[in-house]
Amino acid sequence: MSVREDAADLLGELTDLRRALHREPELGLDLPRTQEKVVGALDGLGLELTFGNGLNSVTAVLRGAAPGPTVLLRGDMDALPLQEKSRAQFSSTTDGVMHACGHDLHTSLLTGAAKLLTARRADLRGDVVFMFQPGEEGQDGAKEMIDQGVLAATGTTPSAAYAIHVTSGMLPFGVFATRPGPIMAACADVKVTVRGRGGHGSAAHRANDPIPAACEMVTALQVMVTRKFDIFDPVVVTVGSFHAGTKNNIIPDTAQFDATIRTFSAASLDRIRPAVLALLQGIGAAHGLEVEAQFYGLYPVTVNDEAAFETVRRTVRESFGEERFAALPAPTAGSEDFSRILERVPGAMVFLGATPADRDPATAPFNHAPEAEFDDAVLPEGAALLAELALGHLSAA
Ligand SMILES: [Zn+2]
Repeated sequence: MSVREDAADLLGELTDLRRALHREPELGLDLPRTQEKVVGALDGLGLELTFGNGLNSVTAVLRGAAPGPTVLLRGDMDALPLQEKSRAQFSSTTDGVMHACGHDLHTSLLTGAAKLLTARRADLRGDVVFMFQPGEEGQDGAKEMIDQGVLAATGTTPSAAYAIHVTSGMLPFGVFATRPGPIMAACADVKVTVRGRGGHGSAAHRANDPIPAACEMVTALQVMVTRKFDIFDPVVVTVGSFHAGTKNNIIPDTAQFDATIRTFSAASLDRIRPAVLALLQGIGAAHGLEVEAQFYGLYPVTVNDEAAFETVRRTVRESFGEERFAALPAPTAGSEDFSRILERVPGAMVFLGATPADRDPATAPFNHAPEAEFDDAVLPEGAALLAELALGHLSAA
């Protein structure tokens, strides 16, 4: 039987696991019940399991029948802080928490890949690391797992790494889409506090008003993006929150705003932070204000290896058919901590369309929307692709 045929037999159990995870979503690095379900699903496979310290990660190692290289397959497991409004029968039972990015599917399909590959252990010349990762949504769980040794789990640094990300729209059901080079943006968030001196709104000269200068900073950031950065290496800066003051006739001491910055090259990422800092401090100095800028939530650009991209394209075409592969014309502006792995190991991130049959991919509520829905029928397909990619790498070695 082919990997895909074997995977099809897993549909029931992968769906059950995905729905159980969906009902009980957990946030950040702290996913004890999710971890428990993963361990339950891997039970009896004879994998070497290790758990994170201070985060509920699971690193599972499958030793092949003969020695060889290591392949890493990754699934993220965390949910998002939002109230579910999907039509699912198995919707979240935790108020204000929802698997709206499909990480419940990633977790489930990675257990499927573990099952498919365990059944083919005899064909494996080398080892597979299954990386079940918490804290993708801003907690940098991948970095934490790297610091705790996920890339040393077999004793050999992986020579290939793959991850799948499902989408609730954009792609038709069952289409695998990826591209060579940058596939997702880098993200460098910045929290800014502008400190002046408060006072009466009728006598501004006696105070030092931080609000006009902070407003100037917000617009100057947009100007900087268009004047200092190449339009063919895009940069996005969005100030998504701005807070200052309590009442119209009181000048506050401080104004604060919070921005997210996306770039699609490491070079732009390196340049933008000092540029932002210099701009903010320059405007602050012009008005005699103190500026504090704190960068946080930094994820690098997610960059697919060219050869790994070719491997994915070939594997999808051979195992699933020509029509199931789409080359993405441009990266997406989301960011991903799988970038941490791809900085160290050549590999690829692949999107998989999980748009429900009754929705149009062009208009379906996308990942992170409270109405987002993902079709469980992609689970065996995702599991099969990851298993095929690992098999390809370990039998070609
Ligand atoms: Zn996600």
